[in-house]
Amino acid sequence: MKVLVLNCGSSSVKFQLIETSLEAIENATDQILAKGQIEKIGMTTSVVRFEAEGKPPLKETPTILEHKVAISKVIKMLTDPEHGAIKDEKEICAVGHRVVHGGEKFASSKIITSEVYEQIDACIELAPLHNPHNIKGYQISKALLPNIPHAAVFDTSFHQSMPNYAYIYGLPYVLYQRHAIRRYGFHGTSHRYLIYRFEHILKTPREKLKIITCHLGNGCSIAAVRYGQSIDTTMGFTPLEGLVMGTRSGDIDPAIILHVMAKEELGLHEANTMLNKHSGLMGISGLSNDMRELMKERDKGNERAALAIDVFCYRVKKYICAYAGALSGVDAIGFTAGIGENCALVREKSCAGLEFMGIELDAERNRSINGKEGLISRDSSPVKVYVIPTNEELVIARDTVRCIEGVF
Ligand code: ADP
Repeated sequence: MKVLVLNCGSSSVKFQLIETSLEAIENATDQILAKGQIEKIGMTTSVVRFEAEGKPPLKETPTILEHKVAISKVIKMLTDPEHGAIKDEKEICAVGHRVVHGGEKFASSKIITSEVYEQIDACIELAPLHNPHNIKGYQISKALLPNIPHAAVFDTSFHQSMPNYAYIYGLPYVLYQRHAIRRYGFHGTSHRYLIYRFEHILKTPREKLKIITCHLGNGCSIAAVRYGQSIDTTMGFTPLEGLVMGTRSGDIDPAIILHVMAKEELGLHEANTMLNKHSGLMGISGLSNDMRELMKERDKGNERAALAIDVFCYRVKKYICAYAGALSGVDAIGFTAGIGENCALVREKSCAGLEFMGIELDAERNRSINGKEGLISRDSSPVKVYVIPTNEELVIARDTVRCIEGVF
């Protein structure tokens, strides 16, 4: 069946049309029929990119002021005789929505019924920056495509298997009881995709594998996955915890926030912006959140760019070691997302000196594999290290099919 995957952000809509089914999932014969994105919604010039298989790509810069117009445009492009992938919107059998936060309610993907909708709505207070846009995407597409099932696939649900000692903070327990303050974790669809690929690559069922998955993009997280279940992950109550990211701080001493708010006379909003937008690689380097840019500057001798990269990699390395401990050993490590897939230097620095744990990178393999799946550890390395380009949309499309078929 043809599943439209929608990922609605505050000013963007990313989408793919994927042909899949239980049989296609089993045989890995799912097919991407079209993909694209509309960015800068609400600004005077929006950017539309679209490409259907075997058709000329489309790039436009119209003015798209609201998501309703954007999603209508998606359907129009999909059915466009020259550029599109289908003749009629009736060919779309279901819509899979990325939903960032599912709280404790959702340990798996769900068809959106009125009850599920209310529960997703109730999660807004946990993810006020993300869930409202995901919900808006659902409301609009449900109105445009009312007669087909819509499913919600949550970033958090994969990590609902974490044991309580991994998700409870060292804070008054009453905060968990009153306000659901606990660790949730994100990027679940990406971590799950890597686990799925590892089963195939290592020809071993996930129930026998201990894996560390490193999603290093603009947002970054690592997960410890034992026998197919996430037992810990670096992001927490929000995506701010854990690794140093493009513009997010990751772990810091929480007392710093109060101290800096007093010293710099910051309000709540400003403090939030500092931690989420002006920290991480951007904050340390004072230059950019873009790893490519920082690598160039480092090569030119810029010390702050070099420091930002060092801090980034050291944090990754610390968590790899921590999670090897949490898992009582590790069979494989996967690197994914923009940095994980493309940046050999980060992979090298993040694994450097870990030979004592059985992690032995092959320098040549590591340098030569970028943006595609492949082994980067030595043949003799007890821990297998791979680059695996992520595919979150495929996970969303497959989950949508599984929800419809009632198979999990
Ligand atoms: P997002 O979390 O926004 O989806 P991505 O997964 O696209 O982010 O990752 C963006 C990051 O990947 C940026 O820091 C970018 O510089 C980095 N990146 C992309 N390509 C390369 C490359 N060839 N070398 C180093 N870093 C890269």
